[in-house]
Order: sequence, then structure tokens, then C-alpha cells
Amino acid sequence: MKTYQGTCHCKAVRFEIDADIDHVRACDCSVCSRRGALIFRVAPEAFRLLTPIEDLSVYRWGSMTGADYFCPVCGILPFRKPSAPTATEAAAGLRPFLGWAINTRCLEGFDPASVPLMKIHGSRL
Ligand SMILES: [Zn+2]
Repeated sequence: MKTYQGTCHCKAVRFEIDADIDHVRACDCSVCSRRGALIFRVAPEAFRLLTPIEDLSVYRWGSMTGADYFCPVCGILPFRKPSAPTATEAAAGLRPFLGWAINTRCLEGFDPASVPLMKIHGSRL
């Protein structure tokens, strides 16, 4: 397991994760397709936020159960809290994911092009 340092562009937001990143996720939903983040999910205990969370801006939409965290200074999204499963997903047995979705583009020393790209069809949910 590696430890990665993450920051937004202006470095007002800093965090660390412990992860073996073996893929990145690209979602085609209406917000992800505009944003272009390449995501890797980590468990709650693998994420350490080094900036007070109150210092970040939050965007909620759709089911309002997820939270997109932004740097209010430079506008970069370094990570987000994934949404709760939809009723259809829950009925299909999908459990809530309680960890964090990390924008791997914000990690120092990690090249998202070095791992396979997993396409997530969020637009169909
Ligand atoms: Zn920033």
C-alpha cells in the first residue's frame, strides 16, 4: 500500500490517502462528464484530510446524498463523498459506499494513464 499526497491547484486543500490504485473510474453522468475527474475510491480510514473540511465548498445535486467538495479559491475538486445507492440500486443489492472518491488527477506522483480506465455509466442511474 502506498501513501499519496493530494492537493487542489492552489494547495489550500491538502489530503493523504493510502491506496494501491489499480484502475481509475470515469463516469458519464451530467456532472462528471463536464468535470473530467478520474476517480479511485478509498475506505474511510484510508483518507486523511489535512485541511479543515469547513474550509471547502460543497456542491450537492440530484439525490442530494453525495457531496462534491471544492477548493473555494481555485475551484478544483480533489475528492467527493459518493451518493447513496438509488432505490433501484439498493433493490439490486448494492450497499452504500462509506468512503471517499478521490480525484486521482490531484495526487502527487500518480499518472492516471498508467492504470486501466473503468467506465461508469452514472448517466443511466
Ligand atoms: Zn485551491
